[in-house]
Amino acid sequence: MAGAGLTGCLAALALARAGWVVVLVDPLQRETLLSRQRAYALSQSSLALLQQLGLASALASHLQGFDQLTLAANRGRAQARIHCTDLPRDAPPAIGWIAEHRPVMATLLRHLDQTSAVTLKLGVAPSSFPGLAGEAGDGNWDLVVAADGHRSMARQTMGVRCWGWRYDQSCITVQVHLHGEDSARAWEMFRDEGPLAVLPMGQGRSQIVWSTSRARAARLMAMDPPSFSRALAAVLPKAVTLITVRNAPQAFPVGLQLAQRLQQGNVILLGEAAHCCHPLGGQGLNLCWRDVGCLHALACRVGQRQRSIGWLLRRYGRQRWVDTVATLLVTDGLLRLFTPGPLTRRRWLLVPLQRFSLALLNRWGPLRSLVLQAMAYGWGPWRRRGMPQEYTSKLSQATPARSR
Ligand SMILES: Cc1cc2nc3c(=O)[nH]c(=O)nc-3n(C[C@H](O)[C@H](O)[C@H](O)COP(=O)(O)OP(=O)(O)OC[C@H]3O[C@@H](n4cnc5c(N)ncnc54)[C@H](O)[C@@H]3O)c2cc1C
Repeated sequence: MAGAGLTGCLAALALARAGWVVVLVDPLQRETLLSRQRAYALSQSSLALLQQLGLASALASHLQGFDQLTLAANRGRAQARIHCTDLPRDAPPAIGWIAEHRPVMATLLRHLDQTSAVTLKLGVAPSSFPGLAGEAGDGNWDLVVAADGHRSMARQTMGVRCWGWRYDQSCITVQVHLHGEDSARAWEMFRDEGPLAVLPMGQGRSQIVWSTSRARAARLMAMDPPSFSRALAAVLPKAVTLITVRNAPQAFPVGLQLAQRLQQGNVILLGEAAHCCHPLGGQGLNLCWRDVGCLHALACRVGQRQRSIGWLLRRYGRQRWVDTVATLLVTDGLLRLFTPGPLTRRRWLLVPLQRFSLALLNRWGPLRSLVLQAMAYGWGPWRRRGMPQEYTSKLSQATPARSR
């Protein structure tokens, strides 16, 4: 397997749990893998997979659940509130869980270290990666999993091209302390320059994911800390006040990318090697982990000798299309609907459309339910799995108490 990011590490554990022997390689050293400053909004599908792989209890204390999501547009004049009661009654009582990169990565690496079926090779030069020497994989390996990120060397070696485009936007991520923050409520604000998310991390801390034009992001990144704080304070929801900025902001270019094939020969593309999307809606990692969930289900059948590896390869390529394409298109559609750009320059048309769609969402329960289920479980056949009581109650503790 190539790539020990969050997708590759979880996939290695999933394959090992399915009875496979795995070699996982990455050019980065352990500390570099751990040091990414980011927090993710994990969805119900991700939590169900962690539970299935026996990792949920180890991570429960690092997860901060939120049970409300406020969508706001047109400077807060149009709003829709989504609550976890819009999910099926037996779902864990949260819309999502905020997890910081470091503890999640550390937990996955610790479990990999403890799994005898996995050999973890970190700091390995790309030329010596197992399985990627040949054009479409190496015959010495039954399966080669490429989870080596959006610039995937494996994908390029295979000659698989991508569809996609870059947005004229960058995403700034930064952690802050807020006053007035409700630790159970996340915000997605649709602003003219791009969406801005406020993700509650508990104890007054929040992760901000701020999309803006590339030019403005460059100017913001060049600011001294007090000027950056002032600029950030001006764009936050009115309900919260910025107390301090906790770390150095980082900016990332954003785009949409989809590999034209998800499988070739004995290689499959997983996570951002296969697809990436705008962070709007926090779908990126969850979509990557749904790839892992699919691989795990197929690998279990092969591990139990019910099916062949050829079957897994064909099946994976087919099964991941609907969810992947739908998630990318919906994310892109929402971005275009709520951010004035080349396709939607006419504000007189856009503002009523935004108001109408948020009012509809706010008033119409079945629509909220549909939207939330798609966010929580992905598209295509929703594979919601029942969770044991012990796990559900651990997650309930991670979610500030609120009645459902
Ligand atoms: C600003 C921003 C905010 C985001 N917020 C969220 C969020 O709230 N929720 C969410 O779900 N997602 C979010 N995402 C998306 C999420 O970060 C990614 O989807 C996720 O990190 C992808 O994981 P990955 O393991 O597929 O790729 P990566 O994390 O890129 O890992 C790829 C790994 O492959 C290794 N590698 C590179 N080349 C090779 C090679 N040749 N051989 C072997 N290994 C190699 C790299 O060293 C790296 O360790 C966000 C993204 C951005 C940019």
